Amino acid sequence: MEQLVNNFVRLQEFDDKLNSLKLQKGDLPMLIEHLSEELQENQEKANAQEAQIEKLQNDRKMFEKELEASKAQLAKYEDQLYKVQNNKEYDAISLEIDTKKAEIESLEAKVLQTIEEEENIKQEITSLKESVEDIENQLSENKKELEEINLQTKEEEAVLNGKRAEIAEKIDQRYLSQYERIRKAKSGQAIATVNRNSCTGCYSMLPPQRIVEIREGGIHSCEYCGRMLVWVENNGA
Ligand SMILES: [Zn+2]
Repeated sequence: MEQLVNNFVRLQEFDDKLNSLKLQKGDLPMLIEHLSEELQENQEKANAQEAQIEKLQNDRKMFEKELEASKAQLAKYEDQLYKVQNNKEYDAISLEIDTKKAEIESLEAKVLQTIEEEENIKQEITSLKESVEDIENQLSENKKELEEINLQTKEEEAVLNGKRAEIAEKIDQRYLSQYERIRKAKSGQAIATVNRNSCTGCYSMLPPQRIVEIREGGIHSCEYCGRMLVWVENNGA
């Protein structure tokens, strides 16, 4: 039992050290993840807008072609108007001319609309590209920073992980998974000791009888925070 207590105390020590290495990285890993997602979203948006511009340009070409044809037809009708023989023919051609003129007007409006829309989208793309550039700069800065920290901590981390694994191997799987569960729930600290008659995990005052039991050895559970309570001689008071 004492061996188990010792192993747990050492396991917690290595986990604390690993945790402080992780803390050196701060929120950099999360920041990098968020920025990468944002970058991808903006790039996808810009791609969709480029495709929209292509569609607008194709539409415009089509409208311009129709416009050209309508204008040629209008000229033909206007020519015919001079050569009419009677009123009935005159009225019929006049009607065609009016129809063509309305058609031309609507096509010209459509062409203008595609130009306007294209201008608007181009402005959006410009501001999107600016923000993409900003994000890329920030991202590469953060990545460089993280790389530098990783370079400094990598070796230490590997050594600690190796030692931690050695100890973890000696602990029964059942206890180990309990330790992991508490560690996750209690911001990294699964093992607590007694200091000034209190649990070092939650600072709750422990009843004297409880302290006697803990002092006798073994692993106990703090009734206030649920951490594993053990007695460590130089920590106990
Ligand atoms: Zn506690």
